[in-house]
Amino acid sequence: MARIKKKIKTITVDADKCNGCRSCEIICSAFHATPKYSSNNPARSRIQVIRHPLRDIWVPVFAGEYTAAECMGRDKYIIHGKEYDECGFCRASCPSRDIFKEPDSGLPLKCDLCDDDPPQEKPLCVQWCLNDVLKYEEREVEVEEETKPEDLEIGLDALANKYGLDKIVDAVTRKSLGKKG
Ligand code: SF4
Ligand code: SF4
Repeated sequence: MARIKKKIKTITVDADKCNGCRSCEIICSAFHATPKYSSNNPARSRIQVIRHPLRDIWVPVFAGEYTAAECMGRDKYIIHGKEYDECGFCRASCPSRDIFKEPDSGLPLKCDLCDDDPPQEKPLCVQWCLNDVLKYEEREVEVEEETKPEDLEIGLDALANKYGLDKIVDAVTRKSLGKKG
């Protein structure tokens, strides 16, 4: 397999500095609205701030990969004596909870690092975080080439898991017949 140069983009989270202002959630949802910046709804954000206000604990978590099944092993976190929900800091969009899903369609959300044309200088949540919680870094590494599923494929997988493949095929057939007619 061919080796290629790959740009690795990282956002480091210094949770100790987070004050729970949620600006990151607002700008992320606005950036991904259609048309861009036409609305904001933190439920649509690809970053969610896990909150425990009484103990002044705020932990921003980024939306990661979609997963079709719940995992078998889970993690428990205890921070400053407070025990967090087993799924609290997980990045996955998964069937066992509502986080990192489009509220209307249920389709999975994933952080795309604000992919844009022309590219943003830095991801929007990093730009909007005034407390330096989020720090952006880029570096180049050499890796083996791999084929990744397209966003469309991931979306179709999620719909097929929710409604069943037959219903999706029926709906697409109806739509295409409607367009021809
Ligand atoms: S914008 Fe920064 S300080 Fe505000 S909630 Fe997000 S990470 Fe925390
Ligand atoms: S990097 Fe962009 S897409 Fe990812 S959470 Fe931040 S604002 Fe949202």
